[in-house]
Amino acid sequence: MNFSTKVTTLPKVGVKLASALKQLGITTVGELLYHFPYKYLDFSNTAQISDLEEGQTVTISAQVDKIKAQRAFKKGLSFSIATVYDQTGSIEAVWFNQPYLAKSLKTEEQIYLAGTVTRKNSRQLQLVNPVVEKFSEQSLHTGRLVPVYHSIELVYNKTLRNLIHHCLQNITKWDDEFSSKKIKQLNLLGLSEAIKNLHFPESWQDVEHGRLRIAFNELLPQQLAVLIKEKALRDAGSFEAKLDVEAIKTFVAKLPFTLTNSQKKAAWDIANNISQPVPMNRLLQGDVGSGKTVVIAIAALLASLSKLQTAILAPTEILANQHYATFLELFRTFKKVKIGLITRNSSSVDGSETTKAELLKKAKSGKIDVLIGTHSLLQEKNSFNKLALLVIDEQHRFGVAQRSFLKEGYSNKPPHLLSVSATPIPRTLALSLYGNLQVSDLKQMPSGRKLVITKVVPDLERDKIYHFISQQVQMGRQAFIVTPRVEDSEKSELKAAKQEFELLSKKVFPQYKVGLLYGKQKAKEKSETTKLFAENKIQILVATSVIEIGVDFPNASVIIIEGAERFGLAQLHQLRGRVGRGLSQSYCFLLTTTESHQDNERLQTFTKTFDGFKLAEDDLKQRGYGDLFGSMQSGFNFKFPKFITETALLKSHEVASEIMTHPEEYKGLKRTLKLANEFAEDYHGE
Ligand code: ADP
Ligand code: MG
Repeated sequence: MNFSTKVTTLPKVGVKLASALKQLGITTVGELLYHFPYKYLDFSNTAQISDLEEGQTVTISAQVDKIKAQRAFKKGLSFSIATVYDQTGSIEAVWFNQPYLAKSLKTEEQIYLAGTVTRKNSRQLQLVNPVVEKFSEQSLHTGRLVPVYHSIELVYNKTLRNLIHHCLQNITKWDDEFSSKKIKQLNLLGLSEAIKNLHFPESWQDVEHGRLRIAFNELLPQQLAVLIKEKALRDAGSFEAKLDVEAIKTFVAKLPFTLTNSQKKAAWDIANNISQPVPMNRLLQGDVGSGKTVVIAIAALLASLSKLQTAILAPTEILANQHYATFLELFRTFKKVKIGLITRNSSSVDGSETTKAELLKKAKSGKIDVLIGTHSLLQEKNSFNKLALLVIDEQHRFGVAQRSFLKEGYSNKPPHLLSVSATPIPRTLALSLYGNLQVSDLKQMPSGRKLVITKVVPDLERDKIYHFISQQVQMGRQAFIVTPRVEDSEKSELKAAKQEFELLSKKVFPQYKVGLLYGKQKAKEKSETTKLFAENKIQILVATSVIEIGVDFPNASVIIIEGAERFGLAQLHQLRGRVGRGLSQSYCFLLTTTESHQDNERLQTFTKTFDGFKLAEDDLKQRGYGDLFGSMQSGFNFKFPKFITETALLKSHEVASEIMTHPEEYKGLKRTLKLANEFAEDYHGE
């Protein structure tokens, strides 16, 4: 027997069971063995009947005294009831709707029963619906950590356990790519041991070690792909932008503020990177409001001085427009730097609208230095003359497919890549997704910023909050009110932006101008509203989480987040970052859908934590690596994402690096190498 043996050859697998197994994606022994339990029932505690206590989950070894099937008064309900005993005493067991049990168990038969002990009355304990297993040398369903599988009708857990156990006993080839010597050196389990452990562990540690080996196997080709890709880029070389220190000084001197030390360091590191013929792979992370834009501008300036181009990708139109406005302003006295904008609905150069064709022509001939755009920018292949720097703002918002622009978007050499993010990525995850990328952290906030006062507010005090907004508006400030959904679905009690807008503009704040902003709005409406808000012609902006990213309105001082418990920590942090960008004290109020969320621990932590890095780590702890891989749009669909741990990531990264340095020693890893090369083909995590 081996992995490709058909399940139809297994004992007791008839046509019906085979087709049911097929529905679970199982046709071969390999697929069966890789159908891992998603949890385990801990029936490893064994006890004698006289020692049983209410609430205990145990396995007992007992003999059947009597057993009979009964019908209840209610129609259709039947149950079996048995008394079982051991040397120390006896106990009653009841099973509902399992009439066949009474027939299959015989008096005096030796069995195991596993389940949770309940109280029948003041004198007697009882087992309700315990798992039954007939006595044998090796128990699979009781007396141990019992595997629980995703199952469907006809493929019961007991059936799966029996089948899998049979295969584990009979399989002779395990297809482990690593020799047992090597795997020992790596401090991992052999594949056969790992798979056995996962199905029938002796301890929780067995489960952990089994998962580690499986996760390692799954991660290794992915890790290797990232490194292969990285090497290919290094080998391809890149454009060099001259490190013109004088130009940087002139530019910085004209800014209306002094750069923070971390801004200076980041700009310097980037400037150094892009002056080299090796493509940069750098992540610029900094909390919202830490001033990442000006750092990007410095890099773009250097490129333009060497007649090289920069592309800046933004995830939303609002953000692209805002970057465009900021860049026009920053380069107002550097007229030689030409700036273009391309979105689905508009294209313009240096502040004047133009046709898309005209814009692209200019970009292609090198007459535009910095081209800012949304996804529309991605659709234009080969639209640059010399693209030397690619900036991806809020990079986690872009999927891998979009990053394939890197491959298609340039004709000669790969651009230096600057990924920008306000949602910090834990170090290990960054390493695994982007290879050996370098990181610039803007840990320092521009001086004078105050922490945003954050509070969870009961719905009862809603009026107080509205009054507070009113006061702030009278002081000349502005407010955001964020709602989770646009339209109220029947089932949801969430505040809908549109309804909220109606209510607030007509009833609550009739004396002020209230605006509405949401994702699916027409672009013109969006940019109009954004503009009015920027000019303080709108004082209160009702919005969905579209404002989560990037948008900069320093005059806003209050943000209310409705249904706050529905947002992730990282997202809440982004939202809070919309205020507190100016010098005045700002406020963030979290309203919850029901009172019961008032002491939501997560929200309470959030009111006291202002460090984006810390919040990102908490998010990771709650969600796990596998989930984060998914949400980062990594493009890797792991079969066992829940098995991924930091240890598995580090281990697979270490081995992948070793393979890159000593490829000849690893020629035997045929499957891993093949997969890695396939991944590398369409992976663009760079
Ligand atoms: P983010 O990192 O969220 O992209 P921005 O680059 O939009 O932040 O900057 C937020 C605000 O802070 C902008 O109004 C910007 O002009 C301002 N800013 C940036 N750097 C500094 C600084 N060193 N001192 C004071 N204000 C700054
Ligand atoms: Mg930004």
